Amino acid sequence: MSVEDPWNRFKEILEDPWKEARHWKEKTGGKVIGHLLPDVPEEILHSAGALPVAIEGVWAPDASHAQAHIPGYTCSHAMGAAEMAIRGDLSFLDGMIIPYVCDTTRNLFHLWVELFPQMSKELLRLPKRLDFDGTRDYLRSEYSRLAESVGRLTGRRPDTAAMRESLNLYNRSRAQLRRAHEKHGESPDLWTMERVHMLTASALRMPREIHLKRMEALPWNDSAGPEHKERIAVYVRGKVWDPPAVLSLLDELGFMNAGDEMVTGFRAVAADAPLDGDPLDALVQRHMATIAYPGCHIEPKSIVDGFVERVRMSGARGVLFLNPKFCEPAAFDTPDLQSALEKSQIPSLVLETSAGSVSPGRLRVRLEAFREMIAGDLP
Ligand code: SF4
Repeated sequence: MSVEDPWNRFKEILEDPWKEARHWKEKTGGKVIGHLLPDVPEEILHSAGALPVAIEGVWAPDASHAQAHIPGYTCSHAMGAAEMAIRGDLSFLDGMIIPYVCDTTRNLFHLWVELFPQMSKELLRLPKRLDFDGTRDYLRSEYSRLAESVGRLTGRRPDTAAMRESLNLYNRSRAQLRRAHEKHGESPDLWTMERVHMLTASALRMPREIHLKRMEALPWNDSAGPEHKERIAVYVRGKVWDPPAVLSLLDELGFMNAGDEMVTGFRAVAADAPLDGDPLDALVQRHMATIAYPGCHIEPKSIVDGFVERVRMSGARGVLFLNPKFCEPAAFDTPDLQSALEKSQIPSLVLETSAGSVSPGRLRVRLEAFREMIAGDLP
């Protein structure tokens, strides 16, 4: 009898990202709600009885339909989401939530209103200023509005008990995903960057209860075994792993992830929501404890100093910025962060990437050169 590779069940989800959601909908008759990344609180959707599904535009590198509606100088995250919706890939969605994090996502929401009038939709207006007295109250009222809206769609406005249950489930899931990141640090040949990402990315688009159960079958207790080569620790800042093939390239070139701020990476699982007290307050607390998304306003020095400190603490030899092409918030933040790194003598590389227009060969050449530069005495 052949033993099934426990990673395959996660890999399959990325190969056919909507299969689980369609299956869940057929089986339960429940509502599936899509959300663009980052920072839509899945717990609110879950506690209203819906299945939250993250939509990543990088899966639609050919955006020929969307380009009829959106300027060509739009990031692949937004362009790809519109492309998939227009060509019908997302027809199983009952609702869509788009977080307002930049002008592009705001415009994408207006486009969604025009193109899909039959679909329920919300613009989640995340706070841009995080160091302001009223931010927490504002965000709580925005979450409360979201809970009302999702409750209208599903017919179940989440109560405190339901929300606590969801918070608990998502905290447990995040704890397991953090453990996977730790395993990558201990045994990067087995718990590769590609595999760890596969776990987070699949968690974002299937029932979390089932995902948690499936993670139990992973080889948590396998002894690490000899690593093939000494790996070079890097810290990564960016949005999503775009193009997705960059992960296997980093594995292959002998890098390891010492820490990252990707919205489908460690940033997504770093902070939990406290289980005592009011659940919406707990979600606000989680948002505020999460590394601020590029383009959010905090005192500039604290953004830069906090970043350099996180890089130092990670022990990384260098920093890789994976900046989405045409992303203004990333382009705005990067020069200050890079010059602070320079002052601290930490090398960095900025790669401007886009699912549709970056050649893997070019990425490889630049990453190889970076590896050589930061490897020092390592082979
Ligand atoms: S923040 Fe950047 S990557 Fe995200 S939607 Fe806006 S422009 Fe695109």
